[in-house]
Amino acid sequence: MATLRQAVLVFAFTILLGLPFAVAHGIGEPEIENARIEPSAYLPVDPSWLALYDFGLICAIVAASLAFPAALTPKTKKAFFIIIAVPAVLITLYMAASTVYLNVISWSGGPVHWHADFEIWACGEKLALPKATFPSNYVGTSTLHHHDDYRIHVEGLVVSKEDVALRSFFRVIGGDLEKGRLAVPNTDVNSRNALPVLEFNNGDLCPNGKPGKVKLYVKNQETGAFEENPGIDDYVLKPFYNIPPGDYLKIAFETE
Ligand SMILES: [Zn+2]
Repeated sequence: MATLRQAVLVFAFTILLGLPFAVAHGIGEPEIENARIEPSAYLPVDPSWLALYDFGLICAIVAASLAFPAALTPKTKKAFFIIIAVPAVLITLYMAASTVYLNVISWSGGPVHWHADFEIWACGEKLALPKATFPSNYVGTSTLHHHDDYRIHVEGLVVSKEDVALRSFFRVIGGDLEKGRLAVPNTDVNSRNALPVLEFNNGDLCPNGKPGKVKLYVKNQETGAFEENPGIDDYVLKPFYNIPPGDYLKIAFETE
């Protein structure tokens, strides 16, 4: 019975050790595939993957302990403890060091939380974006996203300014924005099925038969007027949590 108790203890220890990693780093979150602009992309190895491998290693050891309880001599127990403890300590140190490193090199000088409201228009029609799909409550990456609220959220560490440019926002939600080109993800409002991305290029014709142009407007907070901004390619939202003074943007494909 003693070995069973020990096995249960080891198992409980494993859960305690592994869960914070799994939870804190949201392993399996849908943004993982377009995580190019996440701060972890600036590290040689993503700490959450290390934690995942470590969790797998711990599970394997626990499984071995449960399968072969007779093999759990004081010697093997000591070996198992070292195999579990050493990588956990090293990974924790790596996480701490990489957090300090990213804070030091970051353009934002530490974690931030900024917002900008936006509207997207094409040929006089306001466009609707696909909604977040369960279990995620946002579209984009954990650093740059929206919550179906037509508000850009910049949350966390911004390593490079370009990572949170308006153009990057369009990319992480599945579209694109650059001088002369606007691409907007599209969904069937009834079935919620993804539809082909809507593409608008300078010179394309609107239903009124006239050629359109991609434009960016920024609301002048004093006059309330939307003013055209020529910097579509590298526009970065103003660094504020509240709107105003944060940005209200209008991205439009429109005819003259
Ligand atoms: Zn936010």
